[in-house]
Amino acid sequence: MSFTPHVVSPPVLGIFGGGQLGRMTCVAAQALGHAVRVLDPDPHCPAATVCNELITAPFDDAIAAQRLALGCAAVTVDLEAVGLDAMRAAAQHAPVRPSAEVLEVVQDRQRQREWLRAGGFPVPKVLHAASRAELASALQEVGRPAFVKATRGGYDGKGQVRVQSDAQAEEAAELVAQCPVVVEQNVDFLAEISVQVARSPSGQWRAFPAALNHHEQQILQWTLLPAPVADDVLAAAIGLARGLADKLELVGLLTVELFLLKDGTLLINEMAPRPHNSFHTTLGHARTSQFAQLARAVLDLPLGETDVFGSVVVANLLGEQWDPAGGLNVSGVLQTHGVDVTVYGKRVARAARKMGHLTATAETPQGAFAAAEEAMKTLGQTLAPSPLLD
Ligand code: AMP
Repeated sequence: MSFTPHVVSPPVLGIFGGGQLGRMTCVAAQALGHAVRVLDPDPHCPAATVCNELITAPFDDAIAAQRLALGCAAVTVDLEAVGLDAMRAAAQHAPVRPSAEVLEVVQDRQRQREWLRAGGFPVPKVLHAASRAELASALQEVGRPAFVKATRGGYDGKGQVRVQSDAQAEEAAELVAQCPVVVEQNVDFLAEISVQVARSPSGQWRAFPAALNHHEQQILQWTLLPAPVADDVLAAAIGLARGLADKLELVGLLTVELFLLKDGTLLINEMAPRPHNSFHTTLGHARTSQFAQLARAVLDLPLGETDVFGSVVVANLLGEQWDPAGGLNVSGVLQTHGVDVTVYGKRVARAARKMGHLTATAETPQGAFAAAEEAMKTLGQTLAPSPLLD
């Protein structure tokens, strides 16, 4: 039998956002036989060296969004802060998954909380403030400590102030002078967990087990998969995420961050319709990574199995760990048994900027945590413990 060689023209996936999430999605989609076109304002974004084509443009540029979508099998996002008009412009040329309607619900914290409350989903008490006076009365009402967060655009502790002291209240007042904020009561949680569901255009869905997360200064410090939580907590958390994804008619991934209270109650902190830092553990340590799952969902391919191999801890590597002369001490980290490193290729190291992560695996949660701790020690960093690992 003769086979005539021919040029392969792969289908194209478009991604708004070329950060580390976009970069890892590129690799996953390429492994499924796709080319990837990324739109990002930064020509040196982490996905730049990995994607097949980069469009350098702001996230609200409707013309560039059309160029992104033209000829694509689907378009997805690696962040929430994409202009809705740009999303709608892209949708004229390719299915945009998640849709502009989903982003509209999630990209404003106030709106997201109202949507959740109106749908009967459990959320912590939250107030809204658009002036110093409104902030003062909201702080009075919720008490201290309180969390004051910009309604839009904040992430990894940016645009957020935990208000305990008067100096922090003044910092929050400076924030509200620039943009509206939400003011939240402090939730006295036992632990933070997150769940992630994938949903395909036909409504097929799959969920990973829950992740146990620990934040320091409002930034994820480490995450463990699977979280050592009771079966009923896990079922309730996944049930919530599935209910949310169905109600949003979402196609792609939905990650839901939850507060687990001492009595087993779950409150929704926030949801993100995209891959999430707390599921980087799936990369190489679950049958399907979250990035492959996203690609499968938005490209309408069968969803992958979500079982996890052993226990996996991911600890974030922030800009502080990059020495100006020598960069990250990769060699030191890799000396720990069961530990691997993923670096995102960012050109500028800044304090609190996520630059990469290390992954530690073991047979038990305690073993994985101990290995991550040992590896982080080589960088002069300790990991905060969790009561769920005692
Ligand atoms: P967020 O950006 O809203 O996810 O907040 C980042 C982290 O700050 C959360 O994961 C918690 O660790 C902490 N945090 C935020 N809001 C609250 C709250 N209302 N009560 C207690 N901790 C909070």
